Amino acid sequence: MNASNWSIEYSCPQCGAPLQLEETDRLAACPYCRTSVYLVAESAFRYLLPAAQGLNEELYFIPYWRIKGFTFLLQLSGVTNRFTDTNLLSLRQKGLPFSLGLRPQAMKLRFVTPQVSGHFLKSDRTVQDLLPLIISQSGENPPMQAFIGETVSQIFTPVYFRQGLLYDAVLKRPLSTIPGTAEAIVQSAREEKPWQVSFVSTLCPHCGWNLEGEKGALVLLCRNCRSLWQCRETSLERVSFATLTDGPEARHYLPFWRMNVRIEGTELASKADLIRLANLPRAITPELERTPLFFWSPAFKIQAVQFLRWSQQMTVLQPSGETPDELPTGTVYPVTMPISEALEGIRVTLFHLAANKRQALALLPRIDISLTDFQLIYHPFNPGRRELIHSRLGLTVDRTAMYFGAQL
Ligand SMILES: [Zn+2]
Ligand SMILES: [Zn+2]
Repeated sequence: MNASNWSIEYSCPQCGAPLQLEETDRLAACPYCRTSVYLVAESAFRYLLPAAQGLNEELYFIPYWRIKGFTFLLQLSGVTNRFTDTNLLSLRQKGLPFSLGLRPQAMKLRFVTPQVSGHFLKSDRTVQDLLPLIISQSGENPPMQAFIGETVSQIFTPVYFRQGLLYDAVLKRPLSTIPGTAEAIVQSAREEKPWQVSFVSTLCPHCGWNLEGEKGALVLLCRNCRSLWQCRETSLERVSFATLTDGPEARHYLPFWRMNVRIEGTELASKADLIRLANLPRAITPELERTPLFFWSPAFKIQAVQFLRWSQQMTVLQPSGETPDELPTGTVYPVTMPISEALEGIRVTLFHLAANKRQALALLPRIDISLTDFQLIYHPFNPGRRELIHSRLGLTVDRTAMYFGAQL
Protein backbone atom coordinates (compact mmCIF):
# COMPACT_ATOMS: atom_id res chain seq x y z
CA MET A 1 0.00 0.00 0.00
CA ASN A 2 2.96 2.31 0.61
CA ALA A 3 4.78 1.27 -2.54
CA SER A 4 4.10 4.60 -4.21
CA ASN A 5 5.60 6.76 -1.48
CA TRP A 6 7.88 9.42 -2.79
CA SER A 7 11.32 10.41 -1.69
CA ILE A 8 12.00 14.08 -0.96
CA GLU A 9 15.40 15.77 -0.82
CA TYR A 10 15.84 18.74 1.49
CA SER A 11 18.50 20.58 3.47
CA CYS A 12 18.76 20.50 7.26
CA PRO A 13 17.44 23.91 8.41
CA GLN A 14 20.17 24.01 11.07
CA CYS A 15 23.39 22.87 9.35
CA GLY A 16 22.40 22.67 5.68
CA ALA A 17 23.30 18.97 5.30
CA PRO A 18 21.49 17.24 2.41
CA LEU A 19 18.82 14.94 3.81
CA GLN A 20 16.06 12.72 2.55
CA LEU A 21 12.50 12.17 3.64
CA GLU A 22 9.67 9.88 2.83
CA GLU A 23 6.46 11.55 1.81
CA THR A 24 4.63 10.75 5.04
CA ASP A 25 7.50 11.75 7.35
CA ARG A 26 6.68 14.67 9.61
CA LEU A 27 9.34 14.29 12.28
CA ALA A 28 12.87 14.44 10.92
CA ALA A 29 16.23 14.24 12.67
CA CYS A 30 19.50 15.40 11.15
CA PRO A 31 22.23 12.78 11.71
CA TYR A 32 24.95 15.46 11.38
CA CYS A 33 23.89 18.15 13.84
CA ARG A 34 21.26 16.05 15.68
CA THR A 35 18.60 18.71 15.31
CA SER A 36 15.05 17.36 15.29
CA VAL A 37 12.35 19.26 13.47
CA TYR A 38 8.69 18.79 12.77
CA LEU A 39 7.54 19.63 9.26
CA VAL A 40 4.40 21.64 8.87
CA ALA A 41 2.73 23.76 6.22
CA GLU A 42 -0.27 26.04 6.14
CA SER A 43 -1.93 24.18 3.30
CA ALA A 44 -1.09 20.96 1.46
CA PHE A 45 2.63 20.23 1.12
CA ARG A 46 4.10 21.42 -2.18
CA TYR A 47 6.87 19.64 -4.03
CA LEU A 48 8.59 20.21 -7.31
CA LEU A 49 10.30 18.01 -9.83
CA PRO A 50 13.76 19.48 -10.49
CA ALA A 51 14.43 20.78 -13.99
CA ALA A 52 17.27 19.30 -16.06
CA GLN A 53 20.70 20.95 -15.78
CA GLY A 54 21.88 23.59 -18.20
CA LEU A 55 18.65 25.43 -18.94
CA ASN A 56 18.76 29.21 -19.16
CA GLU A 57 15.11 29.71 -20.03
CA GLU A 58 12.61 31.03 -17.52
CA LEU A 59 10.77 28.18 -15.84
CA TYR A 60 7.03 27.78 -15.35
CA PHE A 61 5.77 25.19 -12.89
CA ILE A 62 2.54 23.32 -13.71
CA PRO A 63 0.48 22.22 -10.68
CA TYR A 64 -0.80 18.68 -10.14
CA TRP A 65 -2.75 17.27 -7.22
CA ARG A 66 -1.31 14.18 -5.64
CA ILE A 67 -4.33 12.28 -4.30
CA LYS A 68 -3.99 9.18 -2.19
CA GLY A 69 -6.75 7.82 -0.02
CA PHE A 70 -10.08 6.08 -0.20
CA THR A 71 -13.38 7.28 -1.49
CA PHE A 72 -16.58 5.91 -0.03
CA LEU A 73 -19.40 5.62 -2.55
CA LEU A 74 -22.79 6.10 -0.93
CA GLN A 75 -25.62 4.48 -2.87
CA LEU A 76 -29.02 2.92 -2.17
CA SER A 77 -27.36 -0.49 -2.14
CA GLY A 78 -25.02 0.64 0.67
CA VAL A 79 -21.42 1.77 1.06
CA THR A 80 -18.54 0.61 -1.11
CA ASN A 81 -15.07 2.09 -1.47
CA ARG A 82 -12.33 2.73 -4.01
CA PHE A 83 -8.68 3.28 -3.22
CA THR A 84 -7.11 6.13 -5.16
CA ASP A 85 -3.40 6.71 -5.64
CA THR A 86 -2.85 9.12 -8.49
CA ASN A 87 -1.79 12.58 -9.57
CA LEU A 88 -3.85 14.83 -11.82
CA LEU A 89 -3.50 18.22 -13.45
CA SER A 90 -5.01 20.86 -11.20
CA LEU A 91 -5.80 23.25 -14.03
CA ARG A 92 -9.27 23.17 -15.49
CA GLN A 93 -8.36 23.85 -19.10
CA LYS A 94 -7.36 20.91 -21.27
CA GLY A 95 -4.15 20.93 -23.30
CA LEU A 96 -1.46 19.96 -20.78
CA PRO A 97 -0.69 16.35 -19.76
CA PHE A 98 -3.55 15.19 -17.54
CA SER A 99 -1.23 13.24 -15.23
CA LEU A 100 2.47 12.96 -14.44
CA GLY A 101 2.08 9.20 -14.30
CA LEU A 102 4.85 7.48 -12.38
CA ARG A 103 7.36 10.30 -12.78
CA PRO A 104 7.15 11.52 -9.14
CA GLN A 105 8.03 8.03 -7.94
CA ALA A 106 10.99 7.70 -10.25
CA MET A 107 12.55 11.02 -9.31
CA LYS A 108 13.69 12.75 -6.16
CA LEU A 109 11.34 15.57 -5.25
CA ARG A 110 12.15 18.84 -3.51
CA PHE A 111 10.04 21.18 -1.45
CA VAL A 112 8.84 24.30 -3.17
CA THR A 113 10.66 27.28 -1.64
CA PRO A 114 10.53 31.02 -2.32
CA GLN A 115 14.16 30.74 -3.53
CA VAL A 116 13.26 28.67 -6.59
CA SER A 117 13.14 31.01 -9.54
CA GLY A 118 10.21 30.45 -11.84
CA HIS A 119 6.50 31.00 -12.07
CA PHE A 120 4.31 28.67 -10.04
CA LEU A 121 0.94 28.45 -11.73
CA LYS A 122 -2.10 28.60 -9.50
CA SER A 123 -4.49 25.64 -9.39
CA ASP A 124 -8.04 26.30 -10.35
CA ARG A 125 -9.31 22.82 -9.56
CA THR A 126 -9.63 21.40 -6.06
CA VAL A 127 -9.34 17.78 -5.01
CA GLN A 128 -13.11 17.81 -4.49
CA ASP A 129 -13.50 18.88 -8.14
CA LEU A 130 -11.37 15.97 -9.31
CA LEU A 131 -12.93 13.19 -7.25
CA PRO A 132 -16.07 12.70 -9.35
CA LEU A 133 -13.79 12.41 -12.41
CA ILE A 134 -11.66 9.78 -10.73
CA ILE A 135 -14.68 7.79 -9.61
CA SER A 136 -16.43 8.02 -12.98
CA GLN A 137 -13.30 6.60 -14.62
CA SER A 138 -14.05 3.36 -12.80
CA GLY A 139 -17.56 3.40 -14.28
CA GLU A 140 -19.28 4.52 -11.08
CA ASN A 141 -21.67 7.38 -10.65
CA PRO A 142 -22.81 7.32 -7.01
CA PRO A 143 -25.29 9.93 -5.74
CA MET A 144 -22.84 10.80 -2.95
CA GLN A 145 -19.21 10.20 -2.15
CA ALA A 146 -16.78 11.05 0.61
CA PHE A 147 -13.01 11.11 0.32
CA ILE A 148 -10.79 10.20 3.28
CA GLY A 149 -7.35 11.45 2.35
CA GLU A 150 -4.18 9.70 3.38
CA THR A 151 -1.94 12.01 1.46
CA VAL A 152 -3.01 15.06 -0.45
CA SER A 153 -0.25 17.31 -1.73
CA GLN A 154 0.70 19.40 -4.72
CA ILE A 155 3.44 18.63 -7.13
CA PHE A 156 4.81 21.08 -9.66
CA THR A 157 6.56 20.09 -12.86
CA PRO A 158 8.72 22.59 -14.77
CA VAL A 159 8.26 23.69 -18.38
CA TYR A 160 9.83 26.46 -20.47
CA PHE A 161 9.35 28.21 -23.79
CA ARG A 162 11.69 27.86 -26.76
CA GLN A 163 10.80 29.49 -30.06
CA GLY A 164 7.17 29.79 -29.02
CA LEU A 165 6.83 26.12 -28.11
CA LEU A 166 6.40 24.66 -24.66
CA TYR A 167 9.08 22.22 -23.49
CA ASP A 168 9.11 19.74 -20.64
CA ALA A 169 12.06 20.95 -18.51
CA VAL A 170 12.68 17.55 -16.94
CA LEU A 171 13.27 15.76 -20.26
CA LYS A 172 14.06 18.87 -22.40
CA ARG A 173 11.50 17.71 -24.94
CA PRO A 174 8.78 19.74 -26.64
CA LEU A 175 5.26 19.18 -25.30
CA SER A 176 3.70 20.06 -28.64
CA THR A 177 4.70 20.48 -32.27
CA ILE A 178 2.73 23.63 -33.02
CA PRO A 179 1.95 26.43 -30.57
CA GLY A 180 -1.55 25.90 -29.20
CA THR A 181 -3.60 25.58 -26.03
CA ALA A 182 -0.74 24.38 -23.79
CA GLU A 183 1.24 27.54 -24.56
CA ALA A 184 -1.83 29.72 -24.06
CA ILE A 185 -2.70 28.11 -20.71
CA VAL A 186 0.78 28.63 -19.32
CA GLN A 187 0.97 32.22 -20.51
CA SER A 188 -2.41 33.19 -19.13
CA ALA A 189 -2.51 31.26 -15.81
CA ARG A 190 -2.42 33.10 -12.53
CA GLU A 191 0.53 32.59 -10.19
CA GLU A 192 0.76 31.19 -6.67
CA LYS A 193 1.98 33.29 -3.78
CA PRO A 194 5.37 32.21 -2.36
CA TRP A 195 5.11 29.05 -0.27
CA GLN A 196 7.43 27.20 2.05
CA VAL A 197 7.47 24.32 4.45
CA SER A 198 8.04 25.35 8.07
CA PHE A 199 10.36 23.53 10.41
CA VAL A 200 8.95 23.65 13.93
CA SER A 201 11.04 22.92 16.99
CA THR A 202 10.27 19.60 18.67
CA LEU A 203 10.55 21.04 22.16
CA CYS A 204 7.38 20.85 24.24
CA PRO A 205 5.70 24.30 24.07
CA HIS A 206 4.64 23.86 27.70
CA CYS A 207 7.80 22.64 29.49
CA GLY A 208 10.63 22.63 26.92
CA TRP A 209 11.24 18.87 27.06
CA ASN A 210 11.88 16.91 23.85
CA LEU A 211 8.72 15.73 22.18
CA GLU A 212 8.57 12.13 21.01
CA GLY A 213 6.87 10.48 18.08
CA GLU A 214 7.28 8.17 15.12
CA LYS A 215 8.45 9.86 11.94
CA GLY A 216 4.95 9.80 10.46
CA ALA A 217 3.15 10.71 13.69
CA LEU A 218 0.61 13.52 13.62
CA VAL A 219 0.55 13.80 17.40
CA LEU A 220 3.70 14.23 19.48
CA LEU A 221 4.14 13.29 23.12
CA CYS A 222 5.85 15.05 26.03
CA ARG A 223 6.65 12.53 28.73
CA ASN A 224 7.79 15.24 31.13
CA CYS A 225 4.55 17.17 31.49
CA ARG A 226 2.37 14.39 30.03
CA SER A 227 0.93 16.36 27.19
CA LEU A 228 0.11 15.65 23.54
CA TRP A 229 0.60 18.09 20.67
CA GLN A 230 -0.50 18.37 17.08
CA CYS A 231 0.10 20.96 14.42
CA ARG A 232 -2.43 23.59 13.61
CA GLU A 233 -1.23 25.64 10.65
CA THR A 234 2.38 26.28 11.66
CA SER A 235 2.36 25.94 15.42
CA LEU A 236 1.81 23.15 17.93
CA GLU A 237 -1.45 22.99 19.85
CA ARG A 238 -2.34 20.82 22.80
CA VAL A 239 -4.50 17.75 22.23
CA SER A 240 -6.88 16.74 24.97
CA PHE A 241 -6.60 13.01 25.66
CA ALA A 242 -7.68 10.14 27.91
CA THR A 243 -7.02 6.42 28.25
CA LEU A 244 -9.37 3.57 28.86
CA THR A 245 -7.19 1.53 31.17
CA ASP A 246 -7.64 -2.15 31.65
CA GLY A 247 -5.14 -3.45 34.17
CA PRO A 248 -1.64 -4.59 33.32
CA GLU A 249 -2.71 -7.25 30.81
CA ALA A 250 -3.61 -4.94 27.91
CA ARG A 251 -0.40 -4.56 25.97
CA HIS A 252 -1.47 -2.53 22.97
CA TYR A 253 -3.17 0.83 22.85
CA LEU A 254 -4.84 2.21 19.74
CA PRO A 255 -5.81 5.87 19.40
CA PHE A 256 -9.35 6.92 18.46
CA TRP A 257 -10.82 10.36 17.82
CA ARG A 258 -13.94 11.11 19.82
CA MET A 259 -15.72 14.04 18.25
CA ASN A 260 -18.34 16.44 19.49
CA VAL A 261 -20.09 17.93 16.50
CA ARG A 262 -22.85 20.33 15.72
CA ILE A 263 -25.13 19.06 12.98
CA GLU A 264 -27.28 21.64 11.27
CA GLY A 265 -30.19 20.55 9.13
CA THR A 266 -31.45 17.63 11.18
CA GLU A 267 -32.13 16.56 14.77
CA LEU A 268 -29.12 14.47 15.67
CA ALA A 269 -27.61 15.37 19.02
CA SER A 270 -28.46 12.59 21.46
CA LYS A 271 -28.00 8.86 21.62
CA ALA A 272 -31.77 8.51 21.22
CA ASP A 273 -31.55 10.37 17.89
CA LEU A 274 -28.97 7.86 16.69
CA ILE A 275 -31.11 4.91 17.78
CA ARG A 276 -33.98 6.30 15.72
CA LEU A 277 -31.79 6.97 12.68
CA ALA A 278 -30.33 3.48 12.71
CA ASN A 279 -33.51 1.81 13.93
CA LEU A 280 -31.51 0.00 16.60
CA PRO A 281 -33.38 -2.55 18.72
CA ARG A 282 -33.29 -0.49 21.89
CA ALA A 283 -36.01 1.16 23.95
CA ILE A 284 -35.64 4.92 23.99
CA THR A 285 -35.58 6.30 27.51
CA PRO A 286 -35.62 9.94 28.65
CA GLU A 287 -32.02 9.38 29.75
CA LEU A 288 -30.98 8.43 26.20
CA GLU A 289 -32.69 11.57 24.94
CA ARG A 290 -30.34 13.54 27.20
CA THR A 291 -27.17 11.52 26.52
CA PRO A 292 -24.95 13.49 24.14
CA LEU A 293 -23.83 11.72 21.00
CA PHE A 294 -20.15 11.42 20.20
CA PHE A 295 -18.83 10.36 16.82
CA TRP A 296 -15.84 8.05 16.81
CA SER A 297 -13.15 7.30 14.28
CA PRO A 298 -9.86 5.42 14.26
CA ALA A 299 -6.98 7.90 14.65
CA PHE A 300 -4.64 5.53 12.80
CA LYS A 301 -4.49 4.70 9.12
CA ILE A 302 -6.41 1.58 8.34
CA GLN A 303 -8.07 -0.02 5.33
CA ALA A 304 -11.39 1.49 4.30
CA VAL A 305 -13.65 -1.40 5.34
CA GLN A 306 -12.17 -1.50 8.84
CA PHE A 307 -12.18 2.29 9.11
CA LEU A 308 -15.92 2.25 8.50
CA ARG A 309 -16.54 -0.75 10.73
CA TRP A 310 -14.68 0.79 13.70
CA SER A 311 -16.25 4.22 13.23
CA GLN A 312 -19.68 2.63 13.22
CA GLN A 313 -19.10 0.23 16.12
CA MET A 314 -17.66 2.85 18.42
CA THR A 315 -20.35 5.40 17.52
CA VAL A 316 -23.09 2.88 18.30
CA LEU A 317 -21.46 1.59 21.49
CA GLN A 318 -20.38 5.02 22.80
CA PRO A 319 -17.72 3.49 25.08
CA SER A 320 -16.94 5.48 28.20
CA GLY A 321 -15.03 5.13 31.47
CA GLU A 322 -11.69 6.53 30.33
CA THR A 323 -9.31 8.39 32.63
CA PRO A 324 -8.56 11.95 31.50
CA ASP A 325 -4.91 12.97 30.95
CA GLU A 326 -3.65 9.46 31.51
CA LEU A 327 -1.06 8.15 29.06
CA PRO A 328 -1.21 4.45 28.24
CA THR A 329 1.67 2.17 29.16
CA GLY A 330 2.62 -0.57 26.75
CA THR A 331 2.72 -0.49 22.98
CA VAL A 332 1.12 2.73 21.82
CA TYR A 333 0.21 3.09 18.16
CA PRO A 334 0.95 6.48 16.57
CA VAL A 335 -1.75 8.86 15.42
CA THR A 336 -1.61 8.85 11.62
CA MET A 337 -5.18 9.83 10.75
CA PRO A 338 -5.79 13.57 11.12
CA ILE A 339 -8.90 14.83 12.88
CA SER A 340 -9.93 16.57 9.63
CA GLU A 341 -10.28 13.22 7.85
CA ALA A 342 -12.08 11.68 10.83
CA LEU A 343 -14.58 14.51 10.54
CA GLU A 344 -15.06 13.73 6.82
CA GLY A 345 -15.88 10.17 7.83
CA ILE A 346 -18.92 11.17 9.92
CA ARG A 347 -21.21 11.46 6.90
CA VAL A 348 -20.20 7.97 5.83
CA THR A 349 -20.82 6.58 9.31
CA LEU A 350 -24.23 8.22 9.40
CA PHE A 351 -25.16 6.84 6.00
CA HIS A 352 -23.88 3.40 6.90
CA LEU A 353 -25.98 3.44 10.08
CA ALA A 354 -29.13 4.90 8.56
CA ALA A 355 -31.93 2.34 8.32
CA ASN A 356 -33.57 4.21 5.45
CA LYS A 357 -30.90 4.78 2.80
CA ARG A 358 -33.24 6.65 0.45
CA GLN A 359 -34.07 9.17 3.18
CA ALA A 360 -30.38 9.41 4.15
CA LEU A 361 -29.35 10.19 0.57
CA ALA A 362 -31.85 13.03 0.51
CA LEU A 363 -30.83 14.30 3.94
CA LEU A 364 -27.02 14.07 4.00
CA PRO A 365 -26.22 16.63 1.31
CA ARG A 366 -28.36 19.16 3.18
CA ILE A 367 -26.79 18.86 6.62
CA ASP A 368 -23.78 20.74 7.84
CA ILE A 369 -21.38 19.04 10.25
CA SER A 370 -18.93 21.11 12.26
CA LEU A 371 -16.50 20.06 14.95
CA THR A 372 -17.09 21.68 18.33
CA ASP A 373 -14.67 19.65 20.44
CA PHE A 374 -12.58 16.49 20.22
CA GLN A 375 -10.45 14.18 22.31
CA LEU A 376 -7.92 11.51 21.57
CA ILE A 377 -8.88 8.35 23.46
CA TYR A 378 -6.53 5.39 23.75
CA HIS A 379 -8.25 2.02 23.92
CA PRO A 380 -6.73 -1.22 25.26
CA PHE A 381 -6.19 -4.24 23.02
CA ASN A 382 -4.79 -7.70 23.59
CA PRO A 383 -2.77 -9.44 20.91
CA GLY A 384 -4.30 -12.37 19.07
CA ARG A 385 -2.61 -14.43 16.37
CA ARG A 386 -3.28 -12.08 13.48
CA GLU A 387 -5.44 -9.48 15.13
CA LEU A 388 -5.71 -7.20 18.13
CA ILE A 389 -8.71 -7.77 20.38
CA HIS A 390 -10.35 -4.88 22.22
CA SER A 391 -9.99 -5.94 25.83
CA ARG A 392 -13.40 -4.64 26.90
CA LEU A 393 -15.56 -4.83 23.79
CA GLY A 394 -14.12 -8.04 22.34
CA LEU A 395 -14.05 -6.50 18.84
CA THR A 396 -11.04 -7.22 16.67
CA VAL A 397 -8.84 -5.26 14.33
CA ASP A 398 -6.81 -7.09 11.72
CA ARG A 399 -3.15 -6.20 12.21
CA THR A 400 -2.40 -6.49 8.51
CA ALA A 401 -5.06 -3.83 7.80
CA MET A 402 -3.04 -1.26 9.76
CA TYR A 403 -0.41 0.54 7.73
CA PHE A 404 1.92 1.45 10.54
CA GLY A 405 3.68 -0.65 13.08
CA ALA A 406 3.74 0.16 16.74
CA GLN A 407 6.07 2.63 18.35
CA LEU A 408 8.17 1.97 21.49
ZN1 LIG B 1 21.76 19.31 10.52
ZN1 LIG C 1 6.09 19.12 28.29
